[in-house]
Amino acid sequence: MVKTKDDTPLGPTGRPYHGFPTPPALIGHGPARIIALCNQKGGVGKTTTTINLAASLADYGRKVLAVDFDPQGALSAGLAIPTHDVPTIYELLIDSRRDPHTAIVPTAVENLDVIPANIDLSAAEVQLVSEVARESILSGVLRKLAPDYDVILIDCQPSLGLLTVNALTASHGVVVPLECEFFALRGVALLIETIDKVRDRLNPSLTLDGLLATMYDARTLHSREVLERVVEAFGDDVLETVIGRTVKFPDASVSGVPITEFAPGHAAAQAYRRLARELVARGAVA
Ligand code: ADP
Ligand code: MG
Repeated sequence: MVKTKDDTPLGPTGRPYHGFPTPPALIGHGPARIIALCNQKGGVGKTTTTINLAASLADYGRKVLAVDFDPQGALSAGLAIPTHDVPTIYELLIDSRRDPHTAIVPTAVENLDVIPANIDLSAAEVQLVSEVARESILSGVLRKLAPDYDVILIDCQPSLGLLTVNALTASHGVVVPLECEFFALRGVALLIETIDKVRDRLNPSLTLDGLLATMYDARTLHSREVLERVVEAFGDDVLETVIGRTVKFPDASVSGVPITEFAPGHAAAQAYRRLARELVARGAVA
């Protein structure tokens, strides 16, 4: 590991490596800070990050709700939550009189609940277009749940359509996972532009909580170069925590549990717990 002059090790982002302190226990719970995990590119680690960040925060005693907001239902599947013949986020969007508590499912992880999604959600994109205040419908749903949680994470679908705009309108912050691969930055400008527009027109307090480098492979020059370019472009908005590439993630997904439970000692589990501590240290989570 490279070190600074005073012997502090440097992390992969080129800044001094902080371990971040264990978050202090909370005395009470809620209201939740709501964070969207967002990138219109698929396969960058949104769902993996939502699951493992949620589980890590829950391990630190935070009450966490993870909202599956992708019609593919990968978050639900990754936590072994049934998505058929159960109320999903779709029903909550379509029927504003419905109590959103009825769609909440507890997971095997203490303090972690989920609202599932399935393919029905793809119809909402079309159905909501003619609604009054169509961008704020998810916000209305989550407002009723916020008092019960410390943090609500929204796993967005890979698009910048109306559902994603709903997620950004409902959120206090956004975390953008970026795969350390060629073209990682392609599309990020458009995403930032969308975030700026939502802030201007719909949600003035929306903040960029950080960009998270994922699937980083320290052994390849390529990964290091991509990360360097991301840091050049976004500076301190790049989170210090970097998620390494490992086959443990596909394995954990298949088993339907977070990697923090599947292989708690694995470097990737440690990385997600560190991400949770970093977000608490940054004030993005209570
Ligand atoms: P998204 O939600 O952005 O589409 P996913 O979280 O579903 O991305 O990740 C895409 C695929 O990459 C999944 O098969 C997942 O298991 C795998 N994956 C995610 N993070 C990593 C990682 N750090 N190392 C290796 N594979 C990963
Ligand atoms: Mg996903």
